[in-house]
Parts: sequence; structure tokens; C-alpha cells
Amino acid sequence: MALGAPPPPAYRVGVVERRSGAEPPEVAPATLVGVELVWLDLRLRAPVGTSAGAHLQRPLLAVRVVTDQAEGWGECGALPAATPGDPDLDVVARHLQQVAVPRLIQAARTRGGAVAPAALVSHLGGTRPADRHAAATLQMAVLDAELRRSGTPLGARLGVTATSVPVGAVVGIPRDRSMAALLHAVEDVGWAARVRLKIEPGWDVEPVRAVRAAFPDLALQVDANGAYGRLADGGPGAAERLAPLDDLGLTCIEQPLAPPDLAGHAELAARLRTPLGLDESLTSPRRVRDALRYGAMGVACLKPARLGGVFPAVGALGHCREAGVPAFVGGLFEAGPGRAANAVLSALAAPAEGGDPWPGDVAPPAGYLAATPFTFPALQGCRLALPTTPGIGSDLDPAALEGLVARRRWTAA
Ligand code: MG
Repeated sequence: MALGAPPPPAYRVGVVERRSGAEPPEVAPATLVGVELVWLDLRLRAPVGTSAGAHLQRPLLAVRVVTDQAEGWGECGALPAATPGDPDLDVVARHLQQVAVPRLIQAARTRGGAVAPAALVSHLGGTRPADRHAAATLQMAVLDAELRRSGTPLGARLGVTATSVPVGAVVGIPRDRSMAALLHAVEDVGWAARVRLKIEPGWDVEPVRAVRAAFPDLALQVDANGAYGRLADGGPGAAERLAPLDDLGLTCIEQPLAPPDLAGHAELAARLRTPLGLDESLTSPRRVRDALRYGAMGVACLKPARLGGVFPAVGALGHCREAGVPAFVGGLFEAGPGRAANAVLSALAAPAEGGDPWPGDVAPPAGYLAATPFTFPALQGCRLALPTTPGIGSDLDPAALEGLVARRRWTAA
């Protein structure tokens, strides 16, 4: 913020009343007032172990887009450490600060001050991973403001008719690598419509077999986060290591090989009976189309933050549906708005012939975050009722925000 610049407006909660009945919102676009980046120090309730290490902290970058008629919040999906599919949070934050936010402001200036429509925000940036994550963050906030202003819930905007979605849970690799800890963790998520176990070489067949023996009817998937390297690596190959999983009734083996390796996954899929899922390999809607075309996946785990936002994710879900490949929405330890959007998108993953979608990682953040400044609906058994209030579906609690803010940066339009 430049010296002498006006301070950011105070936080507003809920739907902002229109100033007068004279301006139908569809006719008069909202004027962009400014954008605030808010860094939050969030913590996980317990460490989550994956093949890439244990996550303990969840520093979060939230973004607030203020217009003259409503404001909206978005959140960045990037984690503190980069993964093969995603840049780290600092890289995306720098990109937002130096490139994406100035572009949104510049786009408003070329429109006489009007904020760009949310559906166009993904097109303001490039196609690198940081561009996509930044676009997803900004688009979410612009969309939230747009929906609050017009009094529309996200589900209605996207044509979702379902009122609730089934919810899945993820169980990490226990820190002590004990079967007792693993079985206890699976029991703890007994509410879930499916459980996704993290695996890696050395922690795969035996633990999954133990879970299957203890929970014979559980809908079970495994996720290797690319830990089995390349198909042709020395030693026992991925196919030999993973083949015993074929007898354990899994719905999916997710991202066994290092991303992207669509050819390797296609070859591995031909050697296993369990459908292979891709996650880290799916870095863009185009990559989703390529994976479908190459027969590299039988299931897609889609992460809207990685794909560039809500609208690119809708496109990717459409490609999967056309190909007859089931998709589900994965999570990145979101704090509120991102997860609410993912829940609605999860409903769009329902099969064309009707029925429930595959359960997504859309459980309430309160289950894994020690605190969050955003509201979120509670679970009802293994289901989540989709938000019906205007906006993305997650509101800011300004009082809760204050204790969690590390720093903030306001840029006036
Ligand atoms: Mg995954």
C-alpha cells in the first residue's frame, strides 16, 4: 500500500444490500474498489503423513475482492512446500502480488472500473502452474462477490440440482507406522462414505490388507502421490509391487507413478485390474483430455486450485463425463471458500445416468484445522448439505480472523 493511500474498507459479512433499486446488477457491473491479500497462520489438528512427508502447518493465503456493491473471499490452494503438481505457497503469493492482482486491476481500468466477470478471470493470466493457482484464488473471490451481489448460491449458478453430496476421508501414513495406529485412524473416520489410504513403497500391501480385513465393507481407495517412480525403474517394478492390491476390493489406485507419465500410467493400467486414478498428473484441463485420450486413467481426482479455478474444473468434469470416466474432487486442506466451492463441484461429478458422485474430499475444515476464520456447513452422517446462501457458500467471521492474521496487503484499484 502506498503511503497516504486510503486504508482497506472494514470487513463486510453476508450479502451486501444493493444501494438502490435503480440499478439491476446484471446491467450495471460492480466497480472494483481493491484487492486485499491476507496471510493466515493456520495449524492442522494433527500431522498428516503422505509419501511426500508430514504436513503440520497450513499457512493460508486468502484474498478479498472488494467492489462497490459486494465483497468476496477466495483462498489459495498452494501448500508451504511444492509438490510435483503444484508450486509452493510463496511462489503463488509472489505471483498474485506482482502479476495477477495488478492484471485484475488493469482489466477493471480497461472496463471503466468494472471488475472482470469471474468466468473471465482465468483468461487474464498465463498457463504456468503459478498462473493457474493464482487465477483460481482470484476467480473464487470475484465469483463470491458476484454471487453475493446477485443473491445467487454457487450451486444455482452452476446448474447443480443435488442438495447434498457424499463425503470421503483421507487417512495418512501413521508417524509410527504401526498397524494399530492405522486401524484406529480408519475407525476415527467411520462417518465417511469412502476412505482413501496414503501408500508408498514399503507401506502398501500389508497395511491395506489389514484395513480390508478389519473393515470388509468399507469403500476403499489408495493414493501413492507418485511414490512408485517410473514404470521401468530398477528393482521390483510398480506393477509387481501393486498387483497384490488387485485382490483387496479397492475402487482405485491413485497416482502410483511420478507425474505426469501418462504413457507409463496407461501401460500400468493394462497390467492391473483395479482402476488407476490420476491426481498430480492432471495440471490443466488439456492434460485431463490427454489422459482420457491415452487411456491413462480410469478415475480422475480433480483439484480446482490446480486446474485454474471453478470454471476450468467444470470444463474438466465435463471431459470426464463425456469419456465415461468417474471423477471426484480432491482437497488441499482448504479453510472455507475453496472447500465450499469443491463441494458444489463435487455434485457436478455425478454420473450422466444419475445417482451420487464419487465422494470428494469435502469434509468440514474444522475436522483438520485447529481454527479457521471461515464458516462451513456441518456433516450430516456421511453427507454434506450444499450451501444455499448467496455466494460460494462460506462466510468470513471477522472476529475469528483477527487472531489468525500474519500480515495483509491492500491494493486499491
Ligand atoms: Mg492424490
